[in-house]
Amino acid sequence: MDFSLTDEQKAFRASVYDWSVATLAPGAADRDKEGHWDPEVWKSLAAQGLAGLPVGEEYGGGGASVMDCVIANEAIAEGGHDGGFNLSLGAHWVIGAVPIWLHGTEEQKQRWLPALCDGSMIGAWASTEPEAGSDAAGLQTRAVRDGDDWVINGNKIFITNGPIAGVCNVLARTSEKGATAFIVDTTNPGFQVGRELDKMGCRSSPTAEIALVDCRVPADCVLGEVDQALWRVAFECFDWERTVMIASGIGGMQSTLNTCISYAKDRKQFGRPIASFQAIAHKLAEMKIRLEACRTAVYRAAYLKQTGVEHQMEASIAKYLVGEYSVANALDAIQIHGGYGYLRDFGVERALRDAKLGSIGGGTSEIQKLIISRLLLGDV
Ligand SMILES: Cc1cc2nc3c(=O)[nH]c(=O)nc-3n(C[C@H](O)[C@H](O)[C@H](O)COP(=O)(O)OP(=O)(O)OC[C@H]3O[C@@H](n4cnc5c(N)ncnc54)[C@H](O)[C@@H]3O)c2cc1C
Repeated sequence: MDFSLTDEQKAFRASVYDWSVATLAPGAADRDKEGHWDPEVWKSLAAQGLAGLPVGEEYGGGGASVMDCVIANEAIAEGGHDGGFNLSLGAHWVIGAVPIWLHGTEEQKQRWLPALCDGSMIGAWASTEPEAGSDAAGLQTRAVRDGDDWVINGNKIFITNGPIAGVCNVLARTSEKGATAFIVDTTNPGFQVGRELDKMGCRSSPTAEIALVDCRVPADCVLGEVDQALWRVAFECFDWERTVMIASGIGGMQSTLNTCISYAKDRKQFGRPIASFQAIAHKLAEMKIRLEACRTAVYRAAYLKQTGVEHQMEASIAKYLVGEYSVANALDAIQIHGGYGYLRDFGVERALRDAKLGSIGGGTSEIQKLIISRLLLGDV
């Protein structure tokens, strides 16, 4: 496997990184403090042609490869230091637009993708419910066929982009064991955005509860096949989350490490830069080791995905490593900064709060271990 970037990829990465430093980073701390989603930053990203990056060019997307999406996501996180923005962007890309692109009918693609790709519309995905988190198959939201329509009733929680999305892919039970994905126009009166959730991190990304109250959708809103969503559409969403979306964690780790290197060289105690103390230098080395382990794991999973090779094990390993190691690195970053790391000023406490989502969203670390052990052991 050759993970070296081509000159074109290097130039692309640099342009995305520069955009992120110039546009995303400046207000990141304030957006975190206020829990504020800034539509102007989103518009600026869309103007860069990045809102539809993974989607085919024929629908207005960027037609980027899986690896290019990873590179962009990583660069945005590294330059912007705004975990919430990456969360909203990742959800828009991989669980909002990509399922429609990969599983939609031609009509559905023509209807939704151009707006999702030019950024005039934001996408979302709603599978999690109050009683169905890790146990995604335990969902209780039901969709019942009524003439030419389906009528959806139920409650969703933790829906990224819920308050700002124009379209939401909603998972609902349609038979005893089967679930179906529905493309729901969020202006549908039965799609009701509830309480906005006050989170510890990724605070610039809006997250909400959603109630589906007699939400009537025409039959042509079914995404993919009836009763097959858990094993097809949802399965693929998890895969994109564990390869492309998780790449923001690497960018965040790189940004945190850069901050720590500068700080450790500048900060003097006992008449010397703290970087000259082995205890601090080794922390930096450990941060770098964890970062490169994560980067290699994510690139490997993404490379296998891109080349069409089975990679469920590698994707779960990547997701697990980023979830756990980004928290470990952020804790070390706070320690390197001493009391100043405990303040908001250097952004390392924010890095910790943002990083923690990596071990929860899109399948917890425990669930990744469950998947890995099942793949190793089979049914025992
Ligand atoms: C900020 C944020 C954004 C999100 N965005 C979205 C979104 O856009 N759309 C969406 O549908 N969902 C979204 N989610 C939901 C997310 O995917 C779930 O939170 C996650 O899957 C875990 O489910 P849960 O929170 O119900 O935890 P639970 O499933 O209740 O888990 C609680 C604990 O038990 C452990 N556990 C559960 N089952 C097992 C088991 N079998 N073996 C071992 N341990 C187990 C878990 O690992 C965890 O430690 C988001 C969540 C957050 C926090």
